[in-house]
Amino acid sequence: MADSIAARIERVQERIHTACARCGRTREEVSLMAVTKFQSPQDVQAAWDAGIRLFGESRVQEAEAKFSADGSVSGIRAGSELHLIGSLQRNKAKAAAALFDCVQSVDRESLIDTLGNSTIAWERPLMLLLEYRTGEETKAGFQSHDSLFRAAERAMAFPGLALAGLMTMAPFTDDTAAVRAAFRDLAAARDGLARRFPVAGGWRCLSMGMSGDFEIAIEEGSTMVRIGTALFGERGA
Ligand SMILES: *Cc1c(COP(=O)(O)O)cnc(C)c1O
Repeated sequence: MADSIAARIERVQERIHTACARCGRTREEVSLMAVTKFQSPQDVQAAWDAGIRLFGESRVQEAEAKFSADGSVSGIRAGSELHLIGSLQRNKAKAAAALFDCVQSVDRESLIDTLGNSTIAWERPLMLLLEYRTGEETKAGFQSHDSLFRAAERAMAFPGLALAGLMTMAPFTDDTAAVRAAFRDLAAARDGLARRFPVAGGWRCLSMGMSGDFEIAIEEGSTMVRIGTALFGERGA
């Protein structure tokens, strides 16, 4: 019998706590997202019951089936925050803007236009993170600090969009120096953006760190770790 989700969550919480203490940060500086892609409604509910209030999904349709008004775990939607962390196709952008609190996987300027145009008259802006490519394996993401600057400028022209920071997936490797360098690069990009575009409370979110590398990410300044496997076990193959 595998460990319960509650026990796994507690263990991850302890590891986050320890990592924060080790580098002189407070636990409150780091949010824990449960990545629930491919997880059953029962497991999503179990995570909620164990105190998780931030969820990440990588596909719009799967997220709708769970979190929309008639979705399988619709009861937890109002009290939680839901972020899209997987690549978003143009034809799903409107649905994504309607369902998610934040789109973390903004990886091209045309997507900014699409999201911006579908949120023009919104009272509460849609939160966005720009995805930065730091690992060769993943194709998604802006590839240079300059391209991030251009994208940020474009997003700031839309009143319905609120840029909150940056997201990355580090390279999948045992080479921890390479992983650390990727996180450092993301933090440097964020610092550059904050200098170039000073906005009140802006750029505070650095979404970096997954099951295999979240402690390094915390040491390098992560404010949000996105954890799937360490909370739920291996995703069904
Ligand atoms: C699946 C996924 C995660 C979680 O990965 P684990 O290694 O299972 O913790 C985090 N971020 C993104 C963008 C993902 O697609």
